[in-house]
Formats: sequence, structure tokens, C-alpha cells
Amino acid sequence: MKGQQTALDVALEQLKIAAEKLKLDSGIHEMLKYPKRSLIVSITIRMDDGSIGVFKGCRVQHWDARGPFKGGIRYHPNVTLEEVTALAMWMTWKCAVVNIPYGGAKGGICCNPKEMSKNELERLTRRYTSLILDYIGPYRDVPAPDVYTDAQTMAWIMDTYSQFKGYSVPECVTGKPISVGGSEGREEATSRGVIICAREAAKRVGLSFKDATVAVQGYGNVGWNAAKIAHDMGCKIVAVSDSVGGIYCQEGLNPYKVYEHKLKTGSVVNYPKCKDISNEELLETECDILIPAALENQITGANADKIKAKIVAEGANGPTTPEADKILHEKGIFLVPDILANAGGVTVSYFEWVQNLTREHWTLEEVNRKLENIMMRAFNDVYSLMEREKEDMRTAALMLGIGRVSEAIKILGLWP
Ligand code: NAD
Repeated sequence: MKGQQTALDVALEQLKIAAEKLKLDSGIHEMLKYPKRSLIVSITIRMDDGSIGVFKGCRVQHWDARGPFKGGIRYHPNVTLEEVTALAMWMTWKCAVVNIPYGGAKGGICCNPKEMSKNELERLTRRYTSLILDYIGPYRDVPAPDVYTDAQTMAWIMDTYSQFKGYSVPECVTGKPISVGGSEGREEATSRGVIICAREAAKRVGLSFKDATVAVQGYGNVGWNAAKIAHDMGCKIVAVSDSVGGIYCQEGLNPYKVYEHKLKTGSVVNYPKCKDISNEELLETECDILIPAALENQITGANADKIKAKIVAEGANGPTTPEADKILHEKGIFLVPDILANAGGVTVSYFEWVQNLTREHWTLEEVNRKLENIMMRAFNDVYSLMEREKEDMRTAALMLGIGRVSEAIKILGLWP
């Protein structure tokens, strides 16, 4: 990891900043520093070669004052309980920023999915689901995809949960394939929200969005869909990257062709007529809009002053440290923070849950129209608060989210 701070250090520092600005009750501040429940599990499965594989996993439920827990599940070799705790906390604020009735959670398994077969991943997912089964469910905690998990993973979770219950429970998980109750538009939703925010930010800084140059770090679900949607809206994608490295092309890349190349070769690098660049160089690329869409702690005190973009729209969770936030703000870069920019994913997950509970299926147009409304309202709420309080966008978004959660906690009171 670059920089000194862990994701949890960053999340706690952000909470402290917002708590001071909001003059939050010290007891509520203390409550919000810790998750309500953290479950650690040991997942043992039969590997394809006959050996026993033992993997560490967890599910962290931060706060549910505004509704059931909600949050993704991450499969990655560097997953730790601390990281998942930070991600769960950010989910609590995020759901409150877009004003949907959920609390924040996150899950993770420390594994390397790139080195595992599909059968091993299925056994891992099913065993993990069985271990957290008593703590998830449509009215308790609703998982969704995150890094290196996808619609297939969610289908396995739904099936395992349903097998235990004895009947089909599509509303226990979101981000499912459409054939088993997934929502239209869910796969692209996070990226659509990121691009809506980038478009609104462009208006605020006087930049013509349809002629903007864009660099995207990470070419998974969020990164590739963001590049595609921005390209379709007229932007020029000048650089993209993944865990192997990046590519740069001043004339602009066709994201669809880059995606095909990644499917064929396993990475975006070595794409014809492009310059190969490192992930560090990608972040420092000359461009109008930078979209970090990979992991945490990418823009730090060490490289923030080298960022040349006019707008940073955070597709990833926690890509920028508080030290870097200050530097970007001083440089006049318009930052759309993660808990606003990437909230489109959980918003359409909420739509999926509502559709499942009511046994409805909405059209793509309906989903996208409702998503646009929620993202616009959230962007404007954060922007107005930023202007009113004379803060930066991150602080304003944290104040909005944490303020709403603390209000809910106060109204509910303490039991017993
Ligand atoms: P993904 O697994 O689909 O893709 C991750 C991408 O990041 C891959 O292209 C991978 O190669 C790349 N990557 C991994 N390590 C990297 C590194 N060190 N440097 C550069 N690239 C690297 O995951 P995703 O769902 O697209 O999630 C990406 C980010 O967006 C995460 O921070 C996640 O928490 C956040 N997010 C995802 C969703 C969602 O709906 N999937 C919603 C909100 C936020």
C-alpha cells in the first residue's frame, strides 16, 4: 500500500473531521467509530487437487439506524478486518448521502480469485454464505458485489440462502443476474452515477463535458463501464489501467475495443498504438477528469500535487487520503467524493431489493430515470452544503451523511 494510513485510519479521520464540524454529541461520535457487529469466519473448502483450503473471511455491520445493513463482498489477497470495517463505515455514510433506507456493511474473503477455479470459487462462496447465514437476509443485511465478485457470485449466495430457507429468496442479495431477479441497469449503475457526478462537476467548473479528456484507473466493473459511458457521451478516454499496468493514447481510446483486448489477453496493457504506462503515471496523466476505480489509498500526500486533472470523481472507495484531499483542494481540483460519486451502485441495488420485495420488474429507462433523480438530488444537496458551510465536497458529503445517521440514532434512542 502507498502512503502510511490504512483505510480505517482514513475513515476514522474523516469521521473526526465531520464530527467536529457538526458539533456531534461525543457519545454518538464514539458509537460511530466502531461497527455494531463484526463476524470473523474460517472458510474451509475442498480444493480441486483434493487438498483442504482454509480462508479467512468476515462480515462487518457498521450501523443500521436508518434501515437494514447493505454492502458488498470483496475477494482479494489483501483483505483485512480493518479494511472491511472502513468500507462498512463508508457504506453507512453513502446510503445516508443518497437518502436510501439502509445501514452500512461490508464483507470480505482473503483469497486470490485469479488463482482459483470457478468450482473452487463457488464452494468458497457457498461455504462463506452458510457461515454468515444467520446474520444476513432481506430485512437484516443484504450483500452485493465488490472487487473480484460479480453477478455469478451473488447468484450462488442467493441459491445457498434459499436452500437453507427452503424457498427462493431473491431479495436476500443484490447485483444478481437478471434471470434470477437482478435489476436492469445494476451492472452499470455505479459507473453511471460516477459519470452523472462528473458531468455535474464539469458544469460547476465551466468545462465542456462532452469534449473532456478522461483517465480511468482500474478496468473492472466500475472502471470499464465508466469509460464506456463517458465515451458514449462524447468524452475522449486518453488513459486506462488495471492491476498489471496502464495505457495512454492522446488521440483517444475506444473503451469497447480495449475491453475485448482485456478479455483476450487478461490486461489492458500492450494494446496496439498505445504507450504503456504505470498506474502511478496514469494518476498523473494530463486530462480533465480522473476516475480512480480500483482500490484505496491511491492519491496520497506523495503524489497529490502531481495530479493534473480538473475533476477527480471517485469510483473506488477511499482512493484519496485526507492529506491528499487538502492538497487537491488547494490546487483548485473539484473532487467528487466516493460516498457521493459511487453511490449509484447501492442506489440501483436498493431498486433491485424493492423490485424483489414487490415482485416487480422495472424497465431500464425507469431504473435510469430514478437513478438520475437520486444522484442529481444528492449532488445538489452536497454542493449546497459545501457552499453554505464553505467546506470542500468531501467534508460536505460526510457532514450530510453522518448528520443524517446521527439524527436517526438520536430519534431511535438507546435500548434498553
Ligand atoms: P472489479 O473487481 O470489477 O475491478 C477492479 C479493477 O481494479 C480491476 O480492473 C483490477 O485489475 C484493478 N486493480 C486491482 N488492483 C489494482 C491496482 N493495484 N492498481 C490498479 N488497478 C488495480 O471491482 P469493481 O467492482 O470495479 O470495484 C472497483 C472499486 O469500486 C472498489 O474500490 C469498489 O469498492 C468500488 N465500488 C464498486 C461498486 C460496484 O458496484 N461494483 C460500487 C461502489 C464502489
